[in-house]
Amino acid sequence: MSVDLRGTEVLVVGAGIMGAGIVQVAALAGHPVKLFDMREGAAAQAVDKLAATLKSLVDKGKLADAAARAALERIAPIHSLAQARAAGLVVEAIVENLDAKRALFNELEGIVAPGAVLATNTSSISVTAIANGLLHPGRLVGMHFFNPVPLMKLVEVVHGLQTDAAVAEAIFELSKAWGKTPVHAKSTPGFIVNRIARPYYAETLALLQEQAGTPQVLDACLKAAGFRMGPCELMDLIGHDTNFAVTNSVYAANFFDKRYVPSLVQAEMVAGGLFGRKSGRGFYSYGEGAGIPPLPVAVHDAPASAKQVTVHGVGTIADHLEHAAIAALAPQGWGPARELGSDWVGLAIDGARLVLTDGRSAQQLAHDFGTSDVAVFDRPVLHPIAPGTALAYAVAPNAHAAWRTQAGAWLAALGFTPLPLADAPGLVVARTLAMLVNEAADAVLQGVCDEAGADAAMKLGVNYPAGPFEWLKGWSVDGVAKVIRALDAEYRGERYRLSPWLRRRAHLT
Ligand code: NAD
Repeated sequence: MSVDLRGTEVLVVGAGIMGAGIVQVAALAGHPVKLFDMREGAAAQAVDKLAATLKSLVDKGKLADAAARAALERIAPIHSLAQARAAGLVVEAIVENLDAKRALFNELEGIVAPGAVLATNTSSISVTAIANGLLHPGRLVGMHFFNPVPLMKLVEVVHGLQTDAAVAEAIFELSKAWGKTPVHAKSTPGFIVNRIARPYYAETLALLQEQAGTPQVLDACLKAAGFRMGPCELMDLIGHDTNFAVTNSVYAANFFDKRYVPSLVQAEMVAGGLFGRKSGRGFYSYGEGAGIPPLPVAVHDAPASAKQVTVHGVGTIADHLEHAAIAALAPQGWGPARELGSDWVGLAIDGARLVLTDGRSAQQLAHDFGTSDVAVFDRPVLHPIAPGTALAYAVAPNAHAAWRTQAGAWLAALGFTPLPLADAPGLVVARTLAMLVNEAADAVLQGVCDEAGADAAMKLGVNYPAGPFEWLKGWSVDGVAKVIRALDAEYRGERYRLSPWLRRRAHLT
């Protein structure tokens, strides 16, 4: 069976933020579009607003006047579903409630032709469950857009257990024709994006809970890794109520798997009405004169002169450290030695060690190396590493006072902006990226999506600077597995459970 949705009449149900966006995209792509909302007047109001949006696009030179007019002429608000009998595709964007969605699709089956495709824009309800009870469950598919619909390129094409492959394929092709990048996803909690993204928030919330760093420092570290917004800023923008609700729904839908456990830090903020931007206060304060305070950055003197500096390990980061150490030592007329055979990356500075995190805390590294003057630093991600890149570091608790100062001074001399953190395993970036990769690996293992789909979804659905499998390529399976194992060793329990997908590819000792 092949389903062709080119040029078909589209019925959008729900004239809220998502429905209006879907109408705009479908009409601009040339489809006749009908819009229905159960709230009297809501559909007409949404169309008026859309007319204003299209006009402003024309005024800004982003849309031809004729195209805007033609699109508007194709849109009709309707006050009864029966006025959309001819629709070949229905896209539902009503309230996020299973009973309401089931009732709507049941009613629609009595109105539209048996061959019409029924798509739901649900972000958290099982597509399989929505289809349950339909006469033709095979024609129901998820078409999950992201907000704002006209700007966000991603569409998750969500397959329920009974979704016909031809129906999903037709939605995939249609999404492309609408200028989107579709990705196939299996109907599982959170689909792709809302599932894989959980650790971005969860790891920062966990670090905040153990007072490892401030929201500003954690945000700065992840922005230095290429994220447009740090997790705290982002949760403030999304709204803690919404973000917490998504986390709770993914947690419950996974039968309370501890991997997805919500955070007490966020629960308390929600309980107190600190929702973020929309309430005026979240991690940061908003409104008159407020905003995100500047990052407190310590000024470091040049490091004390050393007798010997050796760069250990291989790889891009070790090479960068060598170049940076050569530059730092050049004024003194000498350079670092290089030791390629080490199983760690970093600098030995006389008896002290400055070590790239492999997940072990500074305390653990000090124990393993048998020396107390150890500091561990976070994983720089963007290459080439820009001067002044913010980088978290932690010093072993028994280190001499002088090394405490020297560790920061050395990182600064190597061109970083060192940000001290408590001695948490995997620090900020390594820990967060490892857990994002781990979640993506599990999603692939479970057939939720493939590797390319996970990468595309995270880049286009939440603007990540790279996809989890792209990070993995620039790192290594063993490296990610080591960080997760270190986290598991420190925290115990189910949360830091290495994905079998990674375990099967790692050379674990
Ligand atoms: P919204 O509250 O802005 O709009 C929902 C609209 O649906 C309202 O106008 C309401 O009157 C109407 N409605 C409710 N029940 C109805 C029914 N039975 N029949 C007809 N109309 C009905 O909501 P939204 O943010 O646009 O979300 C809509 C859907 O899209 C939800 O399933 C949501 O989970 C999903 N979604 C939302 C986002 C987002 O960022 N807002 C992103 C992706 C998916």
